[in-house]
Amino acid sequence: MRRVPTVLIVEDEPSIAELISVNLRHSGFRPIWAMDAVTAQAELEAALPDVILLDWMLPGESGLTLAKRWRAHSRSKTVPIIMLTARGDEVDRVAGLDAGADDYIAKPFSTKELLARIRAVLRRRAPEQDVSVVTMGKLALDSATYRVTFDEQPIKLGPTEYKLLLYLMTHAERVHSRAQLLDQVWGDHVFIEERTVDVHVKRLREALGESAAAMIETVRGAGYRLTAQSAKTQSTAVA
Ligand code: CA
Repeated sequence: MRRVPTVLIVEDEPSIAELISVNLRHSGFRPIWAMDAVTAQAELEAALPDVILLDWMLPGESGLTLAKRWRAHSRSKTVPIIMLTARGDEVDRVAGLDAGADDYIAKPFSTKELLARIRAVLRRRAPEQDVSVVTMGKLALDSATYRVTFDEQPIKLGPTEYKLLLYLMTHAERVHSRAQLLDQVWGDHVFIEERTVDVHVKRLREALGESAAAMIETVRGAGYRLTAQSAKTQSTAVA
């Protein structure tokens, strides 16, 4: 399954943001536009993008300050940042790279060149991203961005449901008892009733929706199993 890479555009000039967005969409990316530092921070907290295009001169906090902060933060530190700026001189270029930007492009730039640079930073990050994505049928989980999708539609999960799904996807087609799931997902240092597992499996199924939920089988007297098989035969399995 091919993921559509998300590009967060942090740019206060609507005409530039629009031009970049149109070109990105045309080239198979999903652009998200944030016009200032506050919006950009909120977008980043909601979901990690694959690449950030960051304008240097923004109202309020500068792009340079944002780049430094995102690099210092464990969650966002691996997201590639390309700085966009009208400043072209050597000192600023160095300051941008020192702040943690992966690349730098001076305005005015050609969209062709910008796309080439985006693809280049994605290629450099590709080995890490490949191992972080687990797929099973139409279900995909990216442990680098905490993004879960079914048939490319995003699925919103609570932290426990996310951990449970991650464990089931990386240990698929096997039956896990409730006690095993408690050990592996919750950690054996916490005392929790086995019934808790059922509660979270129920929540996970609800969040996944009917088609994906059919992949989680209840094995009577044994526990739970995530299987790619039942999704195909769900109409008969449910009846
Ligand atoms: Ca600007």
